[in-house]
Amino acid sequence: MTTLIRTSAPAKVNLVFEVGAIQADGYHPVNSLFLALNLREELTLAAGDTGSGISIYVHGDTLPDRHIQAVPTDDTNLVYKVAHALAAHHGLATPDLQLDIHKRIPVAGGMAGGSSDAAAMLVALNEFFFQENGISKLSTDELARLGASLGSDIPFCLYGGLAIGTNRGEQIQELPDLQFESNWLLCISSQGLSTPLVFHRFDELDLFHEFSDLSALQINSSEELANLMTNDLEPATFSLMPALTGLKSKLEELGALKAMVSGSGPTVAALFESRGRCEDVARLLNSEGIFALTSTGPSAGARLEA
Ligand code: ATP
Repeated sequence: MTTLIRTSAPAKVNLVFEVGAIQADGYHPVNSLFLALNLREELTLAAGDTGSGISIYVHGDTLPDRHIQAVPTDDTNLVYKVAHALAAHHGLATPDLQLDIHKRIPVAGGMAGGSSDAAAMLVALNEFFFQENGISKLSTDELARLGASLGSDIPFCLYGGLAIGTNRGEQIQELPDLQFESNWLLCISSQGLSTPLVFHRFDELDLFHEFSDLSALQINSSEELANLMTNDLEPATFSLMPALTGLKSKLEELGALKAMVSGSGPTVAALFESRGRCEDVARLLNSEGIFALTSTGPSAGARLEA
């Protein structure tokens, strides 16, 4: 029988994104509070023909075509890189595989789309090596350590839920799950924004401050969640893309408890108390030509699907 393994993994929003001063290695340390969203990538893995390598097919019906077309299907795709790393970890050659990625997370929207695919791939290949080669499965912690070297957001996509991410965001401290459902509207800009440029402007603005202690947070409602949402990069993002300032105000005027640039942007994430209102506003924005998606959180980390 042909092995067929299905997995899924979540998108993320940064509820808190604190950024420190640039270090000697050129990176900025971060102190982030991540929430996983039920906007999930689905990955199906099947054994490929001998010698065929890894073939990747990407599709989706909820995103504009340009998002699907922007996903590389060669060895620069993150799923290929983690597959190679996991095979090498076991001292194996990268297997011949056929991958199908059902994409729901906007590409280059600061929502960890590629990292989510990579997390889904790690879980799928972990299962594949177990079924095909009888190799003991790695734990989530072990997969996270392997993934961290290839993408800072991969560990969080493996754990999901609510978590603190430090260093470059890859050192994860899991927090108890939120006990309520939060409603999110995500406005995806049609214009890209270079992440290095945003960090450079952040350096110029010189807005550094001490990191907060996020470990003892108690969040019991969407209102409490809204009150703690912050993003140190937002002023830098606004100065590079002034139109986002107007979008943030518009979302709050339309009833969002809080609207905020997600990570380095350009996605703007808005939190709503009511799911109905959130969906109404998404419809309104879409009718005005602004691409908006809705989702809920929390969501589980990368997992096997039936
Ligand atoms: P993050 O939030 O982790 O910073 P992002 O969500 O902003 O990332 P991605 O959607 O991961 O951005 O894509 C960034 C770039 O990575 C894409 O433009 C694409 O060239 C490349 N890439 C590699 N693998 C993938 C993948 N599986 N899905 C999407 N993009 C990928």
